[in-house]
Amino acid sequence: QKFIDIRGVKHAYKTKNGPLPVLDGLDVGVGEGEFCAVVGPSGCGKSTLTRLVSGLMRPDEGAVVLDGQEVSSPRKTVGMAFQNPVMLEWRTILENVMLPLEIVAPGMGRAEKEARATHLLEMVGLKGFEKKRPSELSGGMRQRASLCRAIVHKPQVLIMDEPFGALDNFTREDLWQTMRDLRAAEPFTCILITHDLRESVFLGDQVIVLSGRPARTQYVLDVDLPA
Ligand code: ADP
Ligand code: ADP
Repeated sequence: QKFIDIRGVKHAYKTKNGPLPVLDGLDVGVGEGEFCAVVGPSGCGKSTLTRLVSGLMRPDEGAVVLDGQEVSSPRKTVGMAFQNPVMLEWRTILENVMLPLEIVAPGMGRAEKEARATHLLEMVGLKGFEKKRPSELSGGMRQRASLCRAIVHKPQVLIMDEPFGALDNFTREDLWQTMRDLRAAEPFTCILITHDLRESVFLGDQVIVLSGRPARTQYVLDVDLPA
């Protein structure tokens, strides 16, 4: 059994026009420390998949198993990153990054939380920006900070839904490299939703292609590129 095991998942949304089947037989296995990229056309159920893995929804059929335990409710041990990171403007960048630690590790001392957040910010190239407010940073920098926030508490899985979609090409490719650097520095298990095939192959150890209506797992590509 894989670290993340998505087996035979089927899901339909209830709508006023009856059930809308979205996923119809999804099988995905992600090993611990692996990076899984999921690509597919708009509306094929990629965000639905992230909700199932994060425990915001349960599938109609099949199961999502995370580290041997079926996911049945929202978890604190999941890190999330989205296209438009939501940051608290009244907090500094450092304090924003520390936020998940306040929730999952209330017993951790402030100095230790600061040290962890500072270390991550330095790794993504934001040394010197710790005391800035979110609105003082560029979109790419805010996304870097949001990546730090998403992994600061060492979640079991990092789920990213189109995290680089709003960035220009140059910034986006810079962020790809940052993702790789982060992974080399501290391994984490990741599911990345993206429309960008180049991104999926650059970052993913495996690429899952979803298509059809309702969607099924269509192809699984194993990517083996030099680091
Ligand atoms: P993707 O992320 O691949 O664009 P989604 O998972 O967001 O796809 O949505 C898949 C399909 O399910 C779409 O047709 C969408 O309109 C529909 N859908 C998503 N969420 C809901 C919901 N809460 N209620 C009803 N339909 C939904
Ligand atoms: P994305 O393409 O980024 O997944 P969507 O525009 O599909 O985003 O969905 C945005 C939000 O609207 C989601 O929370 C989804 O659950 C909800 N949603 C999408 N389609 C429907 C729908 N047909 N009925 C109700 N809610 C929907």
